[in-house]
Amino acid sequence: MYIVMVSPECAPVAKVGGLGDVVHGLSRELALRGNAVELVLPMYDCMHTERIEDLHRAYADLWVPFHDISIHCDVYSGRVDGLSCFFIKPNSAERFFERGRYYGESDDAERFAFFSRACLEFLLKSDKHPDIIHCHDWQTALVPVLLYEIYNGIGMTHPRVCYTLHNVGHQGVTGEHILRQAGLDPTAMMIPERLLDHTHADAVNLMKGGIVYSNFTTTVSPRYMEEIRHSELGEGLQDTLNHHAGKVGGVLNGVDYEAWNPQSDPHIPANYGVDDLTPKADNRQALRRRLLIRDLFKPIVAVVSRLDRQKGADLIRHAAFFSLANHAQFVLLGSAAEEELNAAFWGLKHYLNDNQDCHLEIGYDEGLSHLIYAGADMLVIPSVYEPCGLTQMIAMRYGTVPVVRNTGGLADTVFDANYSEVPFEQRNGYVFNDLTTDGLESALGRGIGLWYRYPEYFRQLRVNGMQRDLSWNHPGQDYMNIYELIRA
Ligand code: ADP
Repeated sequence: MYIVMVSPECAPVAKVGGLGDVVHGLSRELALRGNAVELVLPMYDCMHTERIEDLHRAYADLWVPFHDISIHCDVYSGRVDGLSCFFIKPNSAERFFERGRYYGESDDAERFAFFSRACLEFLLKSDKHPDIIHCHDWQTALVPVLLYEIYNGIGMTHPRVCYTLHNVGHQGVTGEHILRQAGLDPTAMMIPERLLDHTHADAVNLMKGGIVYSNFTTTVSPRYMEEIRHSELGEGLQDTLNHHAGKVGGVLNGVDYEAWNPQSDPHIPANYGVDDLTPKADNRQALRRRLLIRDLFKPIVAVVSRLDRQKGADLIRHAAFFSLANHAQFVLLGSAAEEELNAAFWGLKHYLNDNQDCHLEIGYDEGLSHLIYAGADMLVIPSVYEPCGLTQMIAMRYGTVPVVRNTGGLADTVFDANYSEVPFEQRNGYVFNDLTTDGLESALGRGIGLWYRYPEYFRQLRVNGMQRDLSWNHPGQDYMNIYELIRA
């Protein structure tokens, strides 16, 4: 099958969060299965171009209609981990992707509406006719809308579109001028059955358009699909998703088993596998040395996360104090985009500065994240909501026991050591329901208690997590089935 991924992110060249990992991991899995896979991304100035092989200008004459003009673009091509990628670089005065960051600009809706239009124009002009276009999140939601409203009528009749929602907390709600700029007729689009937003009068909802126009819409875990269809976590998209119930479904993300492999990970001093966990102790020591915490007989409780309200920032803070008060050490690696939260975590870091059982690293550090997954004993994820979550799955791969809130993909992957209904050999962590300090303490307290009192049983939880297949193997097949379904 010929599949084109259209995405605002792809690890390791342009990654903000899990979306980048997923696009990279899924694309590689699809390519391994013998499909022809190509990716189309914006050419950001802040991308890690050193991770792109043979980057060169492949097309110099792409003119993309936008508003009442055409914008000239160069299209670059190169390989990322063997994947064939195209990067669109518009040469307009706005310099859409030369802002020194990926998102957070006041004209984000315009930047990505342009990107969506440019992708289709590129496919048309370069005579590419994929079987499947797979697009992601609000940034590329206009792709199926433009395909069926414009490009279908001028020769692009072959592709079918799969659209994946990674987080409905960001829907791309914007003004109707965006539609005009992209070449769409606002009168036809601004109706409840199409792109009219459910709450803001006269606003366009790009994500809603992606759901309505795509041939199939997925979320990144089955539980999250249930939650957004049937609770306020749908953020107003419930009716749209239920109306299109016949073409929506949840597919759990996978983990890239090459990038995250304790047996060969170059970022950790001691490699290990499920057969022998003893080297994990060396990683624990290396982590302590690196973060300047003392070497004592205590478990390490860790957090690796964006510091964001979605991630349960208040409970993350509480986890630090609770761990320290209950004979555990605490390490955190996190970065906050929001100024207020950034300041709050810097304040916490200073407050705990002299505590020798604790270290907070504020920032983004890929290498350190690997050492934490390998060296820690428990990873806390107290999310308010979590579409899928990769960190609990990576933690399990490294024999680190996740302590999570019962929501979204966390609920689909972590099974409580004491209360789950699954057989014992599938129990792999601790789960709590209530988004309260009591909820967190009930789960984390049980984890710390088990570490001290029943180390063999704790070890078994690590092994259970490591033995679970969290690779892209199953989700890869699920996506293939969806592609086959919508091609039929
Ligand atoms: P989200 O996409 O909502 O941020 P996920 O759990 O799906 O959350 O994915 C997070 C990814 O980003 C994981 O690969 C995790 O290791 C990584 N990550 C998060 N914060 C940091 C950080 N401060 N430094 C390094 N890696 C991080």
